[in-house]
Amino acid sequence: MRTLIGAALAASLALPATAQTLRPDQVRFRALYKELVETNTTLSSGDCTLAAQKMAAHLKAAGYPDSALHIYTAPGHPKEGGLVAVLPGSDPHAKAILLLGHVDVVEARRADWTRDPFTLIEEGGYFYGRGTSDMKAQVAAWVDTLIRLKEEGFKNRRAIKMALTCGEETSTAFNGASWLAGHERALIDAEFALNEGGAGRLDAKGKPLALTIQAGEKFPQNYQLEVTNPGGHSSRPVPNNAIYHLAAGLTKISAYEFPIQTNDATIQFFTKMAPQVGGEMGAAMAAFAKNQADRHAISVLSSDPGYNGILHTTCIPTLLSAGHANNALPQRADANINCRIFPGTTVEQVRDTLIRVVADPQIKVTATDKRSEVTKVPPPLTPQILTPVQNVAAKIWPGTPIVPLMAAGATDAAFLIPVGIPTYGLSGMFGDPDGNGVHGLNERLRVGSVYDGRDFLYEVVKIYANAK
Ligand SMILES: [Zn+2]
Repeated sequence: MRTLIGAALAASLALPATAQTLRPDQVRFRALYKELVETNTTLSSGDCTLAAQKMAAHLKAAGYPDSALHIYTAPGHPKEGGLVAVLPGSDPHAKAILLLGHVDVVEARRADWTRDPFTLIEEGGYFYGRGTSDMKAQVAAWVDTLIRLKEEGFKNRRAIKMALTCGEETSTAFNGASWLAGHERALIDAEFALNEGGAGRLDAKGKPLALTIQAGEKFPQNYQLEVTNPGGHSSRPVPNNAIYHLAAGLTKISAYEFPIQTNDATIQFFTKMAPQVGGEMGAAMAAFAKNQADRHAISVLSSDPGYNGILHTTCIPTLLSAGHANNALPQRADANINCRIFPGTTVEQVRDTLIRVVADPQIKVTATDKRSEVTKVPPPLTPQILTPVQNVAAKIWPGTPIVPLMAAGATDAAFLIPVGIPTYGLSGMFGDPDGNGVHGLNERLRVGSVYDGRDFLYEVVKIYANAK
């Protein structure tokens, strides 16, 4: 039963529909979402292939022929497979649109969580469970959209493709998006792709602050700093000590700031967020958007780790190891430097900068485990992309600004953009200011956010599928 306060909140904020008030199509969608969350897809003990098979079965039941459902696995990775599904379009000359989603989730230990992470629990206006937010709500919305379009006999000019992948959450794991880009480029070919990344932001009271659409992202790159030395007995110290060299180099890196960089997305982000955020931070955003040399604005923005991350390339030490015995001069000292590189800058350029900053020929700097390199400018936010988002959002969240975003973190867009598929992050799922426990404990998403986001994605996909 709803209280008066509950009813008022629901009316003003579109807060959760209770189980009793769900439409029949929402009941079915909820079951799909539940099935996905309750299918463990962690790297350690889960099975992405199983999740893909379950989603394919729903599509088949909705009328998709086997020829339109491609379950794939790579040799040696039987549980890290995925699914590509295709709803053909009427115009063979029109390029497809691609709906991308990873089904894998970050590890979750039952002992640490308040509730079972692999049971979808609805409580206090939230869905709880690993992947509820990142990103099984959106994956469920993609599958559900394909089912509804098929059942409705929707006439789409462009083909609508969906690629579900595994391995997004673990940088060292097999990555399905990378594999598809390398092995099934034709199958996933599209004018553009929609992916996770952009989302809605709520303020502390649960009021929509902005709907972001992600265009571009920084890319992660690790560098090893390594000093070797002949070593010797610690009773015979020499000034040339591997640990001193490495420590001095790290201190110089800590004091170094990479130059400020901007692009269309970051300037628009600060411009549009300024009035929403307000106060000193809002003023700094507005000032920086006008003048990217404004030192005061930069120092205010830099004080927030999230905003600092999109102002420039950043590099920080994350791992350190040195020496081999407590009575020996160190023969080796090394550190891992994790950089988040602003698009347009190369792995080599950052390496050159690190070499110049440490200014010590004894410190060897190597780029390690190169994953992806987004050297291209972010995909443009053309009216073709933005207008449908604005129109549909205006109906569901009137007055909420659409804000372009370049993400400081990384998504699978990093694998599609380099092979010529512009990829945008658009989820329509509004999250809380604290990050919703994504990758952490008690991951959750507001019930109302899930249903509204699903409606939003369905409508937007329909418009894109028939756009010129
Ligand atoms: Zn994710």
